[in-house]
Amino acid sequence: MPLTTLSQSSLQDYVDCPRRFQLRYLERLSYPAVEMEPALENEKHLQEGEYFHRLAHQYLIGVPVEKIARLANTVNLQRWWENFLADKDFQGLRDLGSLALHPEASLSAPLGNYRLVAKYDLLAIENGKAIIYDWKTYRKRPRSEWLAARMQTRVYRALLVHAGAHLNKGQPFAPEQVEMVYWFAEYPNDPARFTYTSAQYKRDWDSLVKLADEIAAASSYPLTDDRTKCLYCPYRSYCDRGVQAGEAEQAEAEMEAEEWFDVNFEQIGEIAF
Ligand code: SF4
Repeated sequence: MPLTTLSQSSLQDYVDCPRRFQLRYLERLSYPAVEMEPALENEKHLQEGEYFHRLAHQYLIGVPVEKIARLANTVNLQRWWENFLADKDFQGLRDLGSLALHPEASLSAPLGNYRLVAKYDLLAIENGKAIIYDWKTYRKRPRSEWLAARMQTRVYRALLVHAGAHLNKGQPFAPEQVEMVYWFAEYPNDPARFTYTSAQYKRDWDSLVKLADEIAAASSYPLTDDRTKCLYCPYRSYCDRGVQAGEAEQAEAEMEAEEWFDVNFEQIGEIAF
């Protein structure tokens, strides 16, 4: 089946390493190598992270807090959940109601030969602003400059402007109305906030279109020159770039690894469209 959708993670893969994009999205190879050491501990952390997203979602759709608290049944989940509940930005958030709160919202729009898709942890529309919330459960907080350059930050804001009019009474959001907030469950007092401007939106959308055209025309998928990208890549054994995984010491490498969860969504996206 040819590739029909693009997402922040497939675009990020293409930018990071065209070979990884090819293996994951064109050849659809499942994970041949353990991504990080120690593997079990990391897997547990990833599962807890995914589970935390479910707790936050239940909260936002109005499930009673006491009921959700019972599901936060590991030490990490309990801490993250308490941090979430204590955050004053989220108190009263769910009182905004279903017209303003859109947890796990999906947006999509044509992008060259593809459809660009994104699933948001939460879109909150309040006082003429559209705030994109994304929950992160990293052990360390990534640098804001690094986050600013990520495809997720670019795609999520640009796609909301491009395809979010139905959330704004039929009027497209102006870029200046949009803000993206990464909320870190381990660092609840230090979220990363990114506002948006018309100039940034133009730059982002133009570069997304260019990237989609480049992907459509690509006939070769070279291995990245940046071997640090290989340290946590599940395809190391395919590329003769080592079978021993690196240790998850850097928040940014860990963030890249956590994005593997997004793949499930993309596969669903391809069926849906
Ligand atoms: S191991 Fe390195 S070269 Fe191979 S797909 Fe992964 S990032 Fe690319």
